Amino acid sequence: MRTEKKKTRIRVNGKRLAVSILVLLLAVSAVIFVATRIGDAIREKRDANVPDGPDPAVNEPSNGTGSETNPGGNGGTGNDPNGGTAAPDPAETARTYALENGFLMLLNKDHSVDEAYKAADLMSLDEAICCSDRPAETHFLRAEAAEAFAKMIAAAKADGFEIKATTAYRSYGYQNALYTNYVAKYGQEEADRFSAKPGTSEHQSGLASDISAASVDWALTNKFGDTKEGKWIAAHCAEYGFILRYPKEKSEERTGYIYEPWHVRYVTVPVAQEIMNDKLVLEEYLEKYHITQ
Ligand SMILES: [Zn+2]
Repeated sequence: MRTEKKKTRIRVNGKRLAVSILVLLLAVSAVIFVATRIGDAIREKRDANVPDGPDPAVNEPSNGTGSETNPGGNGGTGNDPNGGTAAPDPAETARTYALENGFLMLLNKDHSVDEAYKAADLMSLDEAICCSDRPAETHFLRAEAAEAFAKMIAAAKADGFEIKATTAYRSYGYQNALYTNYVAKYGQEEADRFSAKPGTSEHQSGLASDISAASVDWALTNKFGDTKEGKWIAAHCAEYGFILRYPKEKSEERTGYIYEPWHVRYVTVPVAQEIMNDKLVLEEYLEKYHITQ
């Protein structure tokens, strides 16, 4: 009986030992597992920190220098000082504008346009500033000239002078009829002193207008130059970009035509001011700047 009990106790003790070892092994492996996980986590965290830090830091400055290049580019416009030394002079810029837009177009006895020539931007003048007894088809000017003309007439009116356009744009056909009439009436030699052969009239350019006033009964006469209206035009036309195309001083020998105080021609403001201040005619202005057409 005793030995059986002893055997049982030993068997029981053996069982307990095995359970203890098993528990111990589980505990150790759990500790190892946890420790490994913690190690991995720490390594992951460290790895994660390494790229997060420097990479953007490297990228940002490179973008930064990129964006600094733009201000540098603006500094390029700040190259204006450099450009400034080589910048075109404003008078030259204004002359180029006038030339490129056709406002320096030369029409005289040596320079003509063909029958089909008609500016694409002809604009109707307000009938209130035109003589109503002349054909409406002649109450046009090129857009920029038409606007300047209206301003000039309004300024004259504000100063107390009523001036109107008689005829502005004239087609080749209209000029042909006019010239043929004058030749029949005065003979060609005389007609050529004041009337242009078709194709050579400034009126076909859409840049010229004849003007008059009630004080000379709306006629085209030298007397207009002596009226208050004619004097106002001579004094102020350049402010609006117009010149007196056939001045008294230079008339026939330089322009090919007699004195015409009633004929104004648009050339843009800066060009008109130089021509009127320096008492030039368009031909002389073009020669001065070596502009050939
Ligand atoms: Zn005229």
